[in-house]
Amino acid sequence: MDDNLQDLYQEIILDHNKHPRNQRLMEDATAMAMGHNPLCGDDISVFIKVNEAGIIEDVSFKGQGCAISQASASLMTQRVKGKSLKAVQEAIDQVCAMLTSEQEPDISLETLGDLAALCGVRQFHARIKCATLAWHALEAALAGKKEITTE
Ligand code: ZN
Repeated sequence: MDDNLQDLYQEIILDHNKHPRNQRLMEDATAMAMGHNPLCGDDISVFIKVNEAGIIEDVSFKGQGCAISQASASLMTQRVKGKSLKAVQEAIDQVCAMLTSEQEPDISLETLGDLAALCGVRQFHARIKCATLAWHALEAALAGKKEITTE
């Protein structure tokens, strides 16, 4: 990855950490799940509101942890809001594959938007679970589970 791209990715992460999108409790959520990453001490609760058409009408998160876990949660809410359950599952799979696949993933800002910034985490092995935490919590909420841990 060239340095300019690395800098841009860094900026996106820092921006989402500083100004998290959709960071709030949701009183009327249809599902929620708590995610824990004991390795780093990140805790993220994800709230979703799914309507009768199977669209994620609203999504939010609340929690604490490192910059990567918070930025990833913020990016996640931006990515899945207004999407169908099927599209959301595809996004979860895509991000988890991007972060954990053995091969260097083929990613670009054009196809992934700001989410591409998360691929910078690949080089910091210990932080990958920070980046996937919100996505696993979202998946748990969709599956009707209340709690997950990365351990
Ligand atoms: Zn972390």
